[in-house]
Amino acid sequence: MTILPDLSDLVVEQVSVTNDVTVTVHAARPMASCPCCGTSSQRVHSHYIRTLRDLPASGRSVHLNVRVRRFFCQERTCPQKIFAERFPSLTLPRVKFTLRLQEALREMGFELGCEAGARLGKRLSYPGSPDTILRLVKQTQLPLVSSPRVVGIDDWSWKRGLRYGTLICNLENNRPLDVLPDRSVQTVSAWFEKRPSVEIVSRDRSSEYAAAISKGAPQALQVADVWHVGKNLRESVQTLLARCRAEIRRALHVQAMTKQEREEREPEPEEEKRPARSRSEQQAHLARRAQKLDRYEQVIELHDQGHRVADIASRVGISGRTVQRWLRNGSFPEARRRRRRPSLIDPYERYVLQWWHEGNRNGLQLYRALRAQGYKGSPKAMYNYLATLRAPRADSSRSAPSRPRERKSVLSSPAPLENFSAQRATWLFLCQPEKLNETQQEELTLLRQASPSAETAYRLAQAFMQMIREHTGHQLDTWLGEVEASYLPELKSFAKGIQQDKAAVLAGLTLPWSQGPVEGHVNRLKLIKRSMYGRAKLPLLRQRVLRSA
Ligand SMILES: [Zn+2]
Repeated sequence: MTILPDLSDLVVEQVSVTNDVTVTVHAARPMASCPCCGTSSQRVHSHYIRTLRDLPASGRSVHLNVRVRRFFCQERTCPQKIFAERFPSLTLPRVKFTLRLQEALREMGFELGCEAGARLGKRLSYPGSPDTILRLVKQTQLPLVSSPRVVGIDDWSWKRGLRYGTLICNLENNRPLDVLPDRSVQTVSAWFEKRPSVEIVSRDRSSEYAAAISKGAPQALQVADVWHVGKNLRESVQTLLARCRAEIRRALHVQAMTKQEREEREPEPEEEKRPARSRSEQQAHLARRAQKLDRYEQVIELHDQGHRVADIASRVGISGRTVQRWLRNGSFPEARRRRRRPSLIDPYERYVLQWWHEGNRNGLQLYRALRAQGYKGSPKAMYNYLATLRAPRADSSRSAPSRPRERKSVLSSPAPLENFSAQRATWLFLCQPEKLNETQQEELTLLRQASPSAETAYRLAQAFMQMIREHTGHQLDTWLGEVEASYLPELKSFAKGIQQDKAAVLAGLTLPWSQGPVEGHVNRLKLIKRSMYGRAKLPLLRQRVLRSA
């Protein structure tokens, strides 16, 4: 009985071991109960052999030959005249596998998916086709969820950019609640209609989810994820600083210039003739263009003064190759339209930032943690991303091909704002001031003094970041009023976005809930989906996501 534990109601007749193990057993009890009327009977009608597969033993497949008796039913009124005895602790009627083998295959299905589960099973002598495993996984009853009170909702892509599904989590215990096939108002609101217990819903800033929640759960308070709001602020500030590059860079010389000179210097950027961009996209594009144009003019100016390429590069803060290309072209190089390619690290951004801000710097550890969550990118891509988090230095990531220090430079070392980049400046603007070192503080002070727009933007950005950090949403109205009075178009357009979703942003700035846990589960879902080689169907995916959490 060592290979058949827990089956004390069976008697082993014979064990034969060849490549496989075959065990012949029969029931220990002399009688059996009729499955139809429950009357027990001892009158045996006949026997037959039922073969079952069981868990492997020491790497060998195990076959059970069960000698099954057929009995006459003793109850005369029973429609079942003859019945076969059953073995409820061993298996179910009409199934070829023992219960414990089914349980093992089900676990393989949940962990690995059907195809991979069946492949591994085959190597370990567990029988079971992908279809069998799929059926076992689908049959599994998931524990019923009690009425959720606080939930988070986010989307995930079936096919990048084409088709999206929805994942809903319980934020009070961080467990996934459901996986929906799409993100339409109809589907999502229907889900909420069936769950009137929901009081709070955390979501991203999509208007589609906002509409669905309003329709399906009008009683619920919607909370916009402040992490996304903070990201929008960062983008607005960066656009603003890029637009102000010329103003900031020339601040140091500005007193030396006559007013007329100043007016001549700023040619209006030409109107772009390109298909529809959203207003903010267009604004960001124009700001980037202004920053580039200013760099271009700076390059030409330094070149005309007879400086060498490498010196110009280090002074302007771009690569030597770019300087050469610009000089060769002889005119301002208009940007080709370029779409930012989505990076594999995007979905983990929040996780990485949190890790970074907790003071962790062990890249290998981070890489392993990301892999475990399903990150498929290279370590190099991850380190590149980390490099953007590092306290910015004037020449980081933009190394000129020559090392200016070794050559004797004609130029004096660059003035502090000569190689200004909006990205770096934005980092300084949004960072908690007490986390900056002395050099960074000096650079920040210079930036703020160089441009009144920058100074206003700095105060407003810091005030907003403080609301995020300290959950002081009650100051939002005052803040919006100050933005309105600031005449900074980038921040006004950011504020306009908030106005359109104000109640939810206010809740986000006041309550502790966030999308972080939902994003974690979305990443897990993607990992599971990938393990299904693109053949994921919703029912199986849903079972695996909800079960393995
Ligand atoms: Zn009966």
